[in-house]
Amino acid sequence: MNSRRALATALVIFLVLTCAAQPADDLQQTTDRLASSVLLGPSMTTLRELTDGFGGRLTGSPAYQAAAEWAAAKFGSFGIHSVRLESFEIPNGWQRRWAHGEMVAPLVRPLHLESVGWTPSTPEGGIQGEVVVIDDFSADHIKAQAAQINGHVVLLDTSKLFAQGVWKALPVLSASYAYLKDAGALGILQPDREKDNVLNAHDALWGAKMSPLPAFQLGLEDSKLIRRLLDARQSVSVKLEAQNKTSGATAVNNVIAEIRGTEHPEEWILIGAHLDSWDFGTGAQDNGAGAAMVLEAARAIAALGQPPRRSIRFALWGGEEQGLLGSFAYTQAHATELEKCVAVLNTDNGAGHPKGWKVEGRKDLMEAMAPISNTLLKALSGDDLSMEVTYDTDHGPFLLKGVPAFDLEVDMSHYMEIHHKSSDTFDKVDALNFKADAAVVAVTAYAIAEDARPIAPHLDHAAVGEILKKAGLDEFLKSVGVWNP
Ligand SMILES: [Zn+2]
Repeated sequence: MNSRRALATALVIFLVLTCAAQPADDLQQTTDRLASSVLLGPSMTTLRELTDGFGGRLTGSPAYQAAAEWAAAKFGSFGIHSVRLESFEIPNGWQRRWAHGEMVAPLVRPLHLESVGWTPSTPEGGIQGEVVVIDDFSADHIKAQAAQINGHVVLLDTSKLFAQGVWKALPVLSASYAYLKDAGALGILQPDREKDNVLNAHDALWGAKMSPLPAFQLGLEDSKLIRRLLDARQSVSVKLEAQNKTSGATAVNNVIAEIRGTEHPEEWILIGAHLDSWDFGTGAQDNGAGAAMVLEAARAIAALGQPPRRSIRFALWGGEEQGLLGSFAYTQAHATELEKCVAVLNTDNGAGHPKGWKVEGRKDLMEAMAPISNTLLKALSGDDLSMEVTYDTDHGPFLLKGVPAFDLEVDMSHYMEIHHKSSDTFDKVDALNFKADAAVVAVTAYAIAEDARPIAPHLDHAAVGEILKKAGLDEFLKSVGVWNP
């Protein structure tokens, strides 16, 4: 090879290499700028405004509505002009006022309890009765026990039921409330599961439906004391009283904002998190952090001044804690344009150190996300891509429609210490982990929206059914009316 040919060959190789590498380098530079903006940005202030400013944000409550209006104004303050409140209806609004209870025999002592969410007030003066235990929740058993249940307070023993798995247990437990009312129960005591009589907020029924009976979640040690007394053949009487505020059918607003894409604005990816929370704490990790990540991603992408090829929608959902109601309503209201939804990114696992993304049972999503994890996210996050399939947060309704759905995976080793408890407050959020999470969300969204091709195809109904069946979710989802195999 003579020297001119060698030089020409080297030049060609150089050009080929630089041309091939150029887009990736550009994208890396852009997403690095994006990540820097998030890491140095005001997200902790945003989170504090949301949590300390509005407190717990029960779906349909005035606090939720005020937070939704605040969030819409936030998007606007980032220079995003396409901001909408999109409403859906829940069957009942509900707010906690107060609850108290005491054992009146054989001991006189206060009980650690609160109303189960979406349960009614007791009649004035409360209810008083002897306690009976139920550990079989079938209609037949409860009917057969009606003479023992009538005029009593029922303490639920769910240990056998939940041994069958949570997704099998929940529909059975929900249905039993109506059977217990028919059998003449005065009210329900549902033991909590953690020591120190700590309470974890939850509701009785899926879908913001009102429980037919007053029900109380009861501290673990209190419930064990009652069980020991009953086992020793002593009769236990309790007096329970609660006031809760209900508002019947109530409109709830999802908050939606959009940054238009430059080349394919009709195609969109969605970054979502639920804005509603439970009310014992102020919903900081669950899910103020996720909501603030979405707001921060929006701020940083808007501030970049360089929109990606496709549009990015930002969604803050209501009704997640009552059964993913806001995101489900969105997939119904926007059914005809879901085919243009390239991917959904959800964040609702707290603000632990970022580990990667859950790909919800799809190997093709794992392969498609791997290059992003291994390059653009490398300095921010672990590179885990989990195949776990869940219907526990707002990627779920999109998963049912076959949309490529990702759920942010973070270190959750301390999450359950505060989840749904009075301790879920701003002071539990580690700023650096939270900002790294937000940066992962922003960078991933930008990379998918900017890519020349959609990240993966949509799945058809049968393929989604296979994933749900394998995960043991299909029967449960059918029972709550969101899945039709
Ligand atoms: Zn949550």
